[in-house]
Amino acid sequence: MNANLYALFAAHFPADRSRIFLETPEGLYYSWNDLERASAKIANLLRSLDLPAGARIAVQVEKSAEAVLLYLATLRAGYVYLPLNTAYRAAEIDYFVGDAEPSVVVCAPENFGWVSKIAFQAGCAHVFTLDDQRHGSLLERAAHHSDQFVTVEKKPDDLAAILYTSGTTGRSKGAMLSHQNLSSNALVLKDYWHWQENDVLLHALPLFHVHGLFVALHGALLNGSRMIFLNKFDGAEVLRQLPRATVFMGVPTFYVRLLSDADFGAAHCKGMRLFISGSAPLLTETFKDFIQRTGHTILERYGMSETAMLTSNPYHGQRKGGTVGLPLPGVKVRLTNQSEGVGDIEVLGPNVFREYWRMPEKTAEEFTSDGFFRTGDVGSFDDEGYLAIVGRSKDLIISGGFNVYPKEIESLIDEVTGVMESAVIGVPHPDFGEAVTAVVVLKSNVTLEEAALLRDLKAKIANFKVPKRIHFVKELPRNAMGKVQKNLLRKEFA
Ligand code: AMP
Repeated sequence: MNANLYALFAAHFPADRSRIFLETPEGLYYSWNDLERASAKIANLLRSLDLPAGARIAVQVEKSAEAVLLYLATLRAGYVYLPLNTAYRAAEIDYFVGDAEPSVVVCAPENFGWVSKIAFQAGCAHVFTLDDQRHGSLLERAAHHSDQFVTVEKKPDDLAAILYTSGTTGRSKGAMLSHQNLSSNALVLKDYWHWQENDVLLHALPLFHVHGLFVALHGALLNGSRMIFLNKFDGAEVLRQLPRATVFMGVPTFYVRLLSDADFGAAHCKGMRLFISGSAPLLTETFKDFIQRTGHTILERYGMSETAMLTSNPYHGQRKGGTVGLPLPGVKVRLTNQSEGVGDIEVLGPNVFREYWRMPEKTAEEFTSDGFFRTGDVGSFDDEGYLAIVGRSKDLIISGGFNVYPKEIESLIDEVTGVMESAVIGVPHPDFGEAVTAVVVLKSNVTLEEAALLRDLKAKIANFKVPKRIHFVKELPRNAMGKVQKNLLRKEFA
């Protein structure tokens, strides 16, 4: 059987291919027939280039339906998809192109000058352009090709995509994901989240990351579901489209922004079946506010570029705020180096990648001798087996020889009236090694004294965990996926 991920999707497309697969708020409609024909044209264009087996197709373009087609065409043609964050500039692209040595680069028309220079210097012979308005040389060239294409045969372990980790320390690493890694995860999630016949996915996530590209898109493709496709998250547009959708996936900041609109409430969510959150921790307050405002309990799940999804709160059982739920079927999750129930999260499963692109030492370092991947996250299980993420192990603070888990302190600070959110970091300290430091965002029109907040904390936790300093800021620095960038905070407050 052909293990090509696209073949799996195609086997699940609706029998009636004239039905709508993707629609945009601007009123563009793509049927499943359109998907097949247009991706065939691009696949034929790629094939006509005579690329070597395993060729990487690097893509840095704004989100659009055509970007989806390009991804699918790459799978169909049997090449390796390499999406790049649209925010990356020359120095970053230079690194990724130099490291991955793609045979094809697709970029935004306005970046063609500098991107093509980098690509040609790195030996890449084909640079195409694509914007989010259906313009660019990629589509012009593809238009001349046939709209029929027989999906290339792939074996389960063949490479389908390389996702570079956002890597806040050291060099970004390319996680190599096989067809089997992606298809196994998509199949598990289809069942686990009870995808249904008439589901409509509201897709507002970026396409260069595991969440939008794999979890959301694969869900709709594998279920033959319609997608309402937004080129970016826009709160007002989400509110307009939500009444026609049944499934929504977001990073926590999406939910915070929806809740910040006083109009948002149950009326928008009448047809909704499922709200899913991931990529960064969902604050318990957001989780609770969302229930109160909409009657819906957000389902939080946990995963990463290297592994796709690992754990999820249940569909039918209790969804616990502040946890990422239970290991998905077929995924093993264990904790090592435990102290007081908190340990390093290690995982094993058919969804877990095999290696980092051209980094054998890194790969060796991050896998255990019995094949588990060290996620770099730290967590604990409750007595019902729900996993809670305490933080990244590199964010762990060691102060005066004691381990301090930032999440514990952050949760306490967040409970204080007037506090919107917080980040706790370690900064170099001559006596303690690291000093616990809190960076706090207050709700608007609130004033709070550092001394009062410290008094409050001292009454609740051991002294070594109490921050030495508290800094008040307007907002926390976040990356495109809503993750707080603690590395920037550590630099700023060092
Ligand atoms: P990425 O590879 O960019 O998807 O980042 C993966 C990392 O995001 C994980 O290793 C976690 O640190 C974090 N992450 C993902 N989902 C969650 C979640 N639900 N709660 C807390 N952290 C999360």
